[in-house]
Formats: sequence, structure tokens, C-alpha cells
Amino acid sequence: MTAPYRAEYIWIDGTQPTAKLRSKTKVVPAGEEPPIWGFDGSSTNQAPGENSDCVLRPVFVCPDPIRGGDNKLVLAEVLLTDMSPHPSNTRAPLAEVAKKFEKHEVWFGIEQEYTFFEGARPLGWPDNGFPAPQGGYYCSVGADEVFGREVVEAHTTACITAGLSIAGTNGEVMPAQWEFQIGPIGPLEVSDQVWIARWLLYRVAEDFGVSATLYPKPVKGDWNGAGAHTNFSTREMRGSLDACIAAAEALSAKHDLHIKNYGYAIEERLTGQHETAHWSQFRYGVSDRGASVRIPWQVARDKKGYIEDRRPNANMDPYIVTRLIVDTVCSAVEAKAKPAGARA
Ligand code: ADP
Ligand code: MN
Ligand code: MN
Ligand code: MN
Repeated sequence: MTAPYRAEYIWIDGTQPTAKLRSKTKVVPAGEEPPIWGFDGSSTNQAPGENSDCVLRPVFVCPDPIRGGDNKLVLAEVLLTDMSPHPSNTRAPLAEVAKKFEKHEVWFGIEQEYTFFEGARPLGWPDNGFPAPQGGYYCSVGADEVFGREVVEAHTTACITAGLSIAGTNGEVMPAQWEFQIGPIGPLEVSDQVWIARWLLYRVAEDFGVSATLYPKPVKGDWNGAGAHTNFSTREMRGSLDACIAAAEALSAKHDLHIKNYGYAIEERLTGQHETAHWSQFRYGVSDRGASVRIPWQVARDKKGYIEDRRPNANMDPYIVTRLIVDTVCSAVEAKAKPAGARA
């Protein structure tokens, strides 16, 4: 008889203002799929002690690159015991919106930035004072400027082994800050994969005695914050620059709603400095890294492609960000497509 395998159930908790990842292990008989499971919601800010049971329903399963063999990672959504979505479950509303606008074939590529810490200090930073000012660190090489590459390499290998659509990695402007990209794939797929890739980041770094944070402004002052630039396209945008511009205009009309939902402490990061547009303003432009939304130069040249929403924080919830973008952009397209007489 084949040995059972281990399924690591990963879920998103109810911590405010930014949810945390949790996980625990289930031993599953060989040949069986990971079943519906449960946990103590009173320990994760998801239930009161006297009625503590929450349900875990698997939504995305992949090979476990940490344990190898037949072991699996199981991303689960949280349900109440009547099998309705838990209030902290932001995936369920995305699933509805994604279905509603399915015919637009929206793709997302998310650039997840993060910062390594060792104890209370960014990895590799001196015990007293600060490293040399920013300027040389982005995409650099050499032990004087690069901190944590061994962790980044191990994480990238883990993402590939898990079968995630990881597109690349790079060292960032602030030392000890890094980025990986997931996509381009659909809204549910990219969000599930970003959450799994985040879990793998924490888990891989654990073995190096390093932690990773998604906090959007980990060091105050003249140091870049950490974002999650969200690149996206509809089928129409992939064939038309006008459609790309219309999408930027649609985002403009809903700027406040998006800013409110793009991650805690967004005003600490979107200051108008450090390659950001101020959180209170909306602006889009070609090649403009000081804009809220950037139209990449190749897109302007080819007159088709995708746009980059530069506003989301590193600590954003991809289920919320992709839902808002799909809803805002596709609703605007559909409203325009309706003949004027059809308006209520
Ligand atoms: P940047 O120059 O902003 O650092 P990156 O190379 O880090 O850009 O990220 C660009 C992202 O855009 C990639 O994750 C890629 O998958 C994504 N992307 C490329 N084409 C499309 C497209 N048509 N729709 C959505 N995302 C796309
Ligand atoms: Mn990037
Ligand atoms: Mn970046
Ligand atoms: Mn970017």
C-alpha cells in the first residue's frame, strides 16, 4: 500500500487591517483528493469562542515544493458551517464578478514587492545608521548591494516546482527589497497564485532565519515603499490602444473607491515621491512611473496591449484588487456599448 501524503491547507484569516496567512497539515490517504476540512476560527479573528468552527474548502491544489514527493499545497477558502462564504472570504465575490465579465477575457500580471527582515532590521542593513542612499541597488550584483538572493532563488525554484505562473524576479530600489511577478493569467488564477507564492515566500525564508514583510513603507524617509503593480488587459485592450486608454479613464472615474481598497497605509506609500503619484490624485501617462496608471511604451508603439495600475500596495488583497479592476473596467465598456435609448 502506498503511504499517505501530507496536504498543507493554507487559508487567509480575519486579522484587521491586513489579513494574515495561516496553514496546517492534514495527512490524506494515498489516491484521495484533499477533502473539506475545518479550523478554530476563534484563534484567527474569524469566529467567537462559543461558536468557533469554520470550514476550509479547497479551491487550488498544487504540488508541495517544500516537502516534495506526493505532498500537496491546498489553498482553501473559508466558509461558515452552512457552507456560505465567511465575511472574511474575499474570493467568493471575485468569483461572481469574474463569471459575470468572463467574455472580456481579463488577464492580470501582478508585480509583488516585499522586504526581507532579520530581527528588527531590513536584511543586511548595518546595526547602526543606514546603508548608502538609494541609487545603486535596483537590479544590482555584488555582496555590498545584494541582500537575500539565496532566499529569492530558493523561492523562485519553489514557485516553479509548484507549477505557478511566476514570470520573473528582480532586486528593488531599496536594499533588501525584492519583487516577483505572477501572470498574465485570469483574475481568480492570479489571485490564488499570488497568495500561494506569498505563503511560499514566508515558508522558504523561514529556513534561512529571515522574515519577509509586505508592509507598504517598511522604512520611513527617503526609502522606496513596496507596491503590487497590477498589469491587466481585456481581450479588446490586447487589440486596441483606444481600449487601453478607455480602461485608464474608467479607473479615473472610480479612483477613490480603488484607493480605499488597495491596501492598508496606502497614504504612507503614495506620497508623490519614490516613483508614485500622490494618493489623492489620479493621472495616467505613457512610460510615466510617477503616474497612477502607466501605459508601457511598447503598448503606445504597438497601439495595443495592457496597462499598469501602479497604485496597489504590496499588502493588498489580490481578490479585492482584481475584482475592482474587472468590475470598473468591464462595467464601463458595457455601459458604453449599450445604445443611448437603453439607458434607464
Ligand atoms: P515593470 O517594468 O513595471 O517592472 P514587470 O516586467 O515587472 O514590469 O511586470 C510586467 C507584468 O505585466 C508581468 O507580470 C507580465 O506578466 C504582465 N503582462 C504582460 N502582458 C500583459 C497583458 N497583456 N495583460 C496583463 N498583464 C500583462
Ligand atoms: Mn516590475
Ligand atoms: Mn518593482
Ligand atoms: Mn511595475
